[in-house]
Amino acid sequence: MKTCSIAIDGPSGAGKSTLAKALAARLGFLYVDTGAIYRTVGLYVARQGGDCAKEEDVLPCLETIQIAMAYGEDGLQHMVLNGEDVTADIRRNEVSRYASQVSPIPGVRAFLLEMQRAMAREHNVIMDGRDIGTVVLPDADVKIFLTASVEARAARRHKELVEKGQEISLEQVKEEIIQRDYADTHRAAAPLKQAVDAVVADTSHLDLEESLALLETIVKERLNR
Ligand code: C5P
Repeated sequence: MKTCSIAIDGPSGAGKSTLAKALAARLGFLYVDTGAIYRTVGLYVARQGGDCAKEEDVLPCLETIQIAMAYGEDGLQHMVLNGEDVTADIRRNEVSRYASQVSPIPGVRAFLLEMQRAMAREHNVIMDGRDIGTVVLPDADVKIFLTASVEARAARRHKELVEKGQEISLEQVKEEIIQRDYADTHRAAAPLKQAVDAVVADTSHLDLEESLALLETIVKERLNR
């Protein structure tokens, strides 16, 4: 049976995961958060005492890492690292940095590519990340480039971290987002960029419900073509 795939790419904090998760629930698709996979690699390298920015520290870790994705009864994607559920740990702020440090390394991207493609072969998916429409699923049925202003994204991410009990200033969150945007768009391997056939959705001035309605309209239009 041919499966259907929806690719959502965009910068940090544009609302990709929240919206993709909600849309997946409405459509009965599986939500695949690829950022979580890069976060899991970063967490592992850091736990092994490695420097996530150094290829020579990261590549040997790929020989002993085992990453699995499990879907719990809550319907959510859990990341399992060598048998341990690290779903909560990978959301810590420092792990965002580790993920963006390991993600430019071509060996890491190649290592994770097949895992992501296999998910889309086996299930109807909504997959979010940075290179889904361009590299991972170039033949996706629908491609959306989800974006928002730096200010809007920083405010959302800050609220999320504070709600989880992390003490961090809005200024620091904004600065880190600017740095990650730069790193994600300027790296040589699979940089964040809009696929030529993607539809742009800007959520700067939209709340969650409005953003979701916009995405649903885009998906329905594209799938009915
Ligand atoms: O989406 P999230 O913020 O969880 O992603 C963490 C980091 O993982 C990003 O800053 C990016 O560097 C990397 N990433 C990537 N390719 C993807 C998903 C995430 O390079 N498909």
